[in-house]
Amino acid sequence: MAQFDLVILGGGSGGYACALRSAQLGLSVALIEADKLGGTCLHRGCIPTKALLHSGEIADGARDASHFGVNAQFLSMDMPAVNSYKDGVIARLHKGLQGLVKSRNITFIEGHGKLISKDTVEVNGEKYTGKNVVLATGSYAKTLPGLEIDGKKIITSDHATKLDYVPKSVIVLGGGVIGCEFASVWKSFGAEVTIIEGLSHLVALEDESSSKQLERAFRKRGINFELGVRFQSAAVNGDSVTVTLEDGKTFSADVLLVSVGRGPVSANLGYEEQGISMDRGYVLVDDKCRTNVPGVWAVGDLIPTLQLAHVGFGEGILVAEEIAGLNPRPINYDGVPRVTYSEPEVASVGLTTAVAKERGFDVVELNYDLAGNGKAQILRTAGSIKLVSQKNGPVLGIHMVGSRVGELLAEAQLIFNWEASADDVAPLIHAHPTLSEAMGEAHMALAGKPLHAHG
Ligand SMILES: Cc1cc2nc3c(=O)[nH]c(=O)nc-3n(C[C@H](O)[C@H](O)[C@H](O)COP(=O)(O)OP(=O)(O)OC[C@H]3O[C@@H](n4cnc5c(N)ncnc54)[C@H](O)[C@@H]3O)c2cc1C
Repeated sequence: MAQFDLVILGGGSGGYACALRSAQLGLSVALIEADKLGGTCLHRGCIPTKALLHSGEIADGARDASHFGVNAQFLSMDMPAVNSYKDGVIARLHKGLQGLVKSRNITFIEGHGKLISKDTVEVNGEKYTGKNVVLATGSYAKTLPGLEIDGKKIITSDHATKLDYVPKSVIVLGGGVIGCEFASVWKSFGAEVTIIEGLSHLVALEDESSSKQLERAFRKRGINFELGVRFQSAAVNGDSVTVTLEDGKTFSADVLLVSVGRGPVSANLGYEEQGISMDRGYVLVDDKCRTNVPGVWAVGDLIPTLQLAHVGFGEGILVAEEIAGLNPRPINYDGVPRVTYSEPEVASVGLTTAVAKERGFDVVELNYDLAGNGKAQILRTAGSIKLVSQKNGPVLGIHMVGSRVGELLAEAQLIFNWEASADDVAPLIHAHPTLSEAMGEAHMALAGKPLHAHG
């Protein structure tokens, strides 16, 4: 039986980050992966979707070229070429990651693992024992009762990232982050897109003002959506799929993407049998990612925290450092940056106005319209930066909409996490002309000294 300081089950963002940091700290590590090192994010999540979105951006650039005085024409998408670009990015990153794991002397084990005791995982009949076991088995794309995924007409994001044609029309069931990103991609690729969302807004977890701006921008792009109405049924008839909503409306399209959320991968893996506390399949942990069973930890999409790759990285690193005795600070999940990479992007960190008020803060708000920003005019993007601040206190939340605003989160997260106030940020000179200048302008306006802002 092989013995390690850590046995990690699952080689996605959470698992591999924990493995790399643990090895860096001198611990011996076994990393078990049933599929490909890198997990959902690298092979069917963050990276492929962002490559597809970038191809879409180029397509839109060709369509809009005349606005910028460039003679170019959008002809069509070449999906084999799009996929080979996307797969090339994935392959390079996969290779790099494999090299990293190897160079840190991590024992990489290919195969499906099961927790057979509190400190042992079995893979292909072999037993791997750890002073610590880290569960990092991730998540899968959920569907709704009675809605069967056939992988052809009714698909999930797993299939959508590999599609080798552009559907003429698509229905996207679920207007969360993943649904909005695919809606954006397919619209850019030339498809007719309709989003169906049961809640009253797209990206409903974001500040309401961001959702409304995204809705306006999507409407302008010709992306259709039905909000606040629930799905009833779907039927495939020959080449098309028809969706019926609870209000009786029907929609037909070539393809139905089901993007109604992701659930934890935890069934039949021995977790319950070992007495690990769980809730609806999620493994429950404390603020250091410890389960109730001593020596067993859990990270990433398997636990009920934000389902984001960088959260998995952070949790993996936290566990490694805790095991190594570094006593790291627990993660402040409010301070985690969030981006929907559609066109336009929606990006935020900190609290929405509604949550800040719920928590009893005396809130002031400032909305800086990107219309006043030179770079935004050059890019021809619309949007805004909204600040939610405590009255005479620190900034509590930053909410942005517009092309490329995800890149502004680097500064936004420092402002939030270092508890800066508008008066702290206003004197910092931002480079002109950049989108980041809008961040400076927003804080100047909130500090009572607007420069390129009216009122
Ligand atoms: C379409 C899409 C787009 C996304 N875009 C973004 C984005 O832009 N930014 C962002 O931050 N996040 C994004 N995410 C979310 C991100 O992919 C996840 O939060 C992240 O992958 C979670 O990491 P994880 O390690 O918890 O799980 P996973 O990445 O799912 O990894 C779990 C791994 O465990 C393995 N495994 C499971 N069971 C076993 C077993 N029994 N034995 C061995 N191995 C096993 C799996 O094969 C898998 O490789 C996106 C997700 C999707 C689906």
